[in-house]
Amino acid sequence: MATIADCLVCGGSSPQRPALAGLEQCERCAFVTYRETASIDFSKLYGAEYFHGASYADYTGQEASLRRSMRQHLRQMESFGPLRGSLLEIGCAYGFFLDEARRHFSRVVGVDISADAAKDAREIFGVEAHAGDFSRMSFPPASFDVVCLWDTIEHLKSPHDYLAKAHSLLTPAGRIFLTTGDLGSWNARLRGARWRQIHPPTHLHYFSRKTLEALLIRLGFEMLGVETAPYYHSAYNVLATLAMRGGRAGAAIRPRVPARPRTRPTATPRPRPGGDARRGSPHRRVRRNTPHA
Ligand SMILES: [Zn+2]
Repeated sequence: MATIADCLVCGGSSPQRPALAGLEQCERCAFVTYRETASIDFSKLYGAEYFHGASYADYTGQEASLRRSMRQHLRQMESFGPLRGSLLEIGCAYGFFLDEARRHFSRVVGVDISADAAKDAREIFGVEAHAGDFSRMSFPPASFDVVCLWDTIEHLKSPHDYLAKAHSLLTPAGRIFLTTGDLGSWNARLRGARWRQIHPPTHLHYFSRKTLEALLIRLGFEMLGVETAPYYHSAYNVLATLAMRGGRAGAAIRPRVPARPRTRPTATPRPRPGGDARRGSPHRRVRRNTPHA
């Protein structure tokens, strides 16, 4: 039976129907989400173990390939205008993107729910990284030229509130850039409930190009473009992920994966634009528009 719930994309009360793997889909706009969030303690969900085993096999061990992906993000951002001024990254993790971005921006600021990650970003790279819930932080209005969220909105309990706040922090010509998995991608449609991006409660929201654009426009943004953002993975991480996921291939290679390394990848990072679930991630660029009254 359809339930009525507030849909964060189309707003207001909308009938919902069961969708993939315990998710719900809005009958009005087709947005897919996970609603059992009342008991989730988000600060506990993203401790150090999240980046080293719980979700990522070893986040910091992927530094070289993550940085390569981040430099590619910057190149794609630059095609929409010069990289300069002040930048805020929501969900900055260990600060790899901030460290790359500060070559272009005069000020870079990061926020992350993980206190461990933000601390490392400050201590290792010396960047301004704040730990905590972005929705409770205060920054002066119109103080950033660019806001970025790399694979972050799918984790947020209230992504629409974060994006609305980001809107208020952008200068009038400011831009927001973000990535997330694309539920409308061929890979997602092919794999259905087995799509690798579907794993509540860390991933709560499953946008398509259509639903993300609808949300951003409702919040007062103007859409400038949607692109695919390639991600690079080290061979090391591919092996580690296989090991974590178990099964025949994983079991065979498990002994080769160190328990919790903090070293650089052991193999040359190789682009995998076609080999990972993230290939469908749309790279979305929107410019701040006049907010709706
Ligand atoms: Zn809806």
